[in-house]
Amino acid sequence: MKEKVTLEFLPDAASAATVAAQRALPLETGGFLLGYYSARSIVVAELVHVPDSGATRVSYERSNELAAVELSERRRANQLLGYVGEWHSHPADRGPSWIDRRSIRRLAESSAMPIALVVLAVPTPDQATVYSEVHTVGTGNRVWTSMMKTIHGRRRSGRRYR
Ligand SMILES: [Zn+2]
Repeated sequence: MKEKVTLEFLPDAASAATVAAQRALPLETGGFLLGYYSARSIVVAELVHVPDSGATRVSYERSNELAAVELSERRRANQLLGYVGEWHSHPADRGPSWIDRRSIRRLAESSAMPIALVVLAVPTPDQATVYSEVHTVGTGNRVWTSMMKTIHGRRRSGRRYR
């Protein structure tokens, strides 16, 4: 899959993660993206939360061990789903940093498949913006960002987040 790859979200894919990110304020939190690859897109089914007790206002580190447990649990329920990328929150209205992009590029370099990066910006407990992009290893092993997508949403209690 070397062509342009788009990113899609199943309904409610980010709902639980948005709640987790807002509860984690003023700290960051995150996890990995669960989904599947179709012909020319990455479909994200769920932003799986992997808590980090060492998270700060400007950093989050996803544990490989905890993520592996969460991933195998979900694959037991649905074997069609797998790892498709990473997500973490920013307690401010800002998208991926250069450090975020550098680490996702490294992941993409060691992956045969494109890797998605989602940043959930939650400046306040009732606001959320989804920044997303896909990183693909192209010719010459150069990693390029094939698309970026931003979804603004306002979450109110009892209403579905989009
Ligand atoms: Zn970040």
